[in-house]
Amino acid sequence: MRTLLIAGNWKLNPTTVEAASALAEGVKNGLGAATDVHVAIAPPFVFLTQIDGVLSGSPIGLSGQDMYWENSGAFTGEISGPMLVDVGCTHVILGHSERRHGQGETNAQVNAKLKAALGVKLIPIVCIGETKDERLAEQTEAVLLEQLSGSLAGLSPEEMAGVVLAYEPVWAIGTGLTASPEQAQAAHAYIRGWLTQVFGEATAARVVVQYGGSVKPDNAIELLSCPDIDGALVGGAALKAADFLAIIKAGQ
Ligand code: 13P
Repeated sequence: MRTLLIAGNWKLNPTTVEAASALAEGVKNGLGAATDVHVAIAPPFVFLTQIDGVLSGSPIGLSGQDMYWENSGAFTGEISGPMLVDVGCTHVILGHSERRHGQGETNAQVNAKLKAALGVKLIPIVCIGETKDERLAEQTEAVLLEQLSGSLAGLSPEEMAGVVLAYEPVWAIGTGLTASPEQAQAAHAYIRGWLTQVFGEATAARVVVQYGGSVKPDNAIELLSCPDIDGALVGGAALKAADFLAIIKAGQ
């Protein structure tokens, strides 16, 4: 019932438009026209226009890595939803842990961005996940509960059904420490249970919940075969077309 979404979050990489175009080209050519999973890439903002051109004719979605909650105005350095749509974006990542922990982004801010993204019909990918200390203190579910209820506040079931969630345990991001399939599935089952409670069973069954955190070609099949894991948000391994394509293949 849910179609997997494999998305590549390029973060602050690569550093030239040539390298970014070559990477997008490699993914596009390797993927071809037909996929039975959804695929998206999230390059840095400044490369979006160029990459939209590269992706022309391909089913690969284009994603921003963040956006602001206002559409325009005196907000130096910010990028808005209508701007992302105008340069060809279909998706936007919100509340990534590198923004929550690195830039102090709050659940209320993620919620405002989410509503703005839905307002311009971008598919939001809302990230949640606990730190290593929180997991060790057995606070994982409490942290997820706070992030879910704060970030997703005020949505209707219909709106919620169109939101993608990404469970990204902070301790697994860029560390090579992947959550075991059992740990990941347990967190995903908790998220699905919360969605069922708040939005009802039919909506909860429709929400795509990705796993992120050191997803690689050699662990992707195990993770993606868990019943509540509906795709992957890939960082480091999305920077090599062959690795990203292998992860997409694992989802097919
Ligand atoms: P890595 O795959 O490099 O651990 O990054 C995951 C991530 O943060 C994707 O958003």
